[in-house]
Amino acid sequence: MGKIRMKNKIVEIDGDEMTRVMWKMVKDKLLLPYLDLEVEYYDLQLKKRDETGDKITLQAAEAIKKHGVGVKCATITPNKDRVKEYNLKEEWPSPNGTIRAVLDGTVFRAPIIAKNIPPAVRSWKKPIHIGRHAYGDVYKNCEYRVLEAGKAELVFTSSTGRELWRGLVQEFRGPGVIQGIHNTDKSIASFAKACFTYAYDQKLHVWFGAKDTISKTYDAQFRRIFEEEYLSNWKIKFEQEGLHYFFTLIDDAVARVMKTEGGLLWACKNYDGDVMSDMVGSAYGSLAMMTSVLVSPEGYYEYEASHGTVQKHYYKYLKGEKTSTNPMALIFAWTGALKKRGALDKTPEVVAFASKLEEAALETVESGVLTSDLMAVATPSPQNRQVYTEEFIDQIAKKLRQNI
Ligand code: NAP
Ligand code: MG
Repeated sequence: MGKIRMKNKIVEIDGDEMTRVMWKMVKDKLLLPYLDLEVEYYDLQLKKRDETGDKITLQAAEAIKKHGVGVKCATITPNKDRVKEYNLKEEWPSPNGTIRAVLDGTVFRAPIIAKNIPPAVRSWKKPIHIGRHAYGDVYKNCEYRVLEAGKAELVFTSSTGRELWRGLVQEFRGPGVIQGIHNTDKSIASFAKACFTYAYDQKLHVWFGAKDTISKTYDAQFRRIFEEEYLSNWKIKFEQEGLHYFFTLIDDAVARVMKTEGGLLWACKNYDGDVMSDMVGSAYGSLAMMTSVLVSPEGYYEYEASHGTVQKHYYKYLKGEKTSTNPMALIFAWTGALKKRGALDKTPEVVAFASKLEEAALETVESGVLTSDLMAVATPSPQNRQVYTEEFIDQIAKKLRQNI
């Protein structure tokens, strides 16, 4: 049987440490035997970013704009220790931050669900996806420590120079703190659009929570923009698919999410998304079971694992020790990219292959063949056994050969 052909390229972005080691195994053992993989390859390992003055990161981001779909391995974001370790010219910025700035996207995270890795919340049967607005609010704030009695005011001066608005924040009688935050209609609208696009694509309901009863201008603007986007562009399409959009207060959303069976996208304001994605992620069992995709308003997609380069395991690997590192999220980053490529190119055989690979990976976990992180959270069974990374990937390869 010949290999499956791809019509267009995927931008492949290689990375660092243990994820780089697993990346090659996944390609060699799970993809290349079956697929004529068409990629434009960018090596973003730290050494290459340093050699190119980080130009390669921008080139990779531009390539995603050109081809529409990318898949990325985890990369080191250097700090002072890494500058020494890799003898870097500079403390280069986070590649994910650079790519996000070029593509202007929203990050969506979703758990990979296996039958024997029960979520901490019993009612969750289907994945809960999180869409986090990644602009503004407390992440781009202006703060002041008040040390004496005085008056704090919020002032808006138009670019014409006229003062248009002034409001009292607080009359301080003594020490305290103040903070100013903002957001823009453009960014909120692009976030709303990205959420509905993603949810429609994946056939998920959309939930959005804010506190517009208290914040009658700020949060109310988020609510209004979401509603406008839904009514103008999605309502009919959603209803045809049996999907709905649900707005509720953020505290009510938190309470209800504990009782839902999942199958929804939870759109979160920046801070809520920061907190809730970690809660949802850990409730589903392991960092290595969370996938992540960056969706740009223009319809470019970049798939990756949520976790980092698994540095501690890599240092063991360098010493020649075997590790039991979990490649599931990396595999699902590839299958996500292949499915999207196949859908855009109308090549159902590429989509079908990606689904078969996902099934083989899940069957492996469900048969009790587990990496160390899963061993700790799997439903106890006499079949459970911990395997090393390569054995785990070999088991998936065996199942894939059987299923194809
Ligand atoms: P990490 O790589 O996510 O790993 C943290 C810990 O989580 C690991 O030590 C391991 O726990 C567990 N873990 C994560 N992924 C796992 C997997 N696939 N299989 C098994 N266990 C897994 O985070 P980090 O150690 O804080 O960061 C390492 C580097 O990654 C940093 O240089 C950081 O800049 C980078 N990073 C990159 C990205 C990205 O490119 N998207 C994201 C985050 C961090 P045990 O050690 O207990 O087994
Ligand atoms: Mg967080």
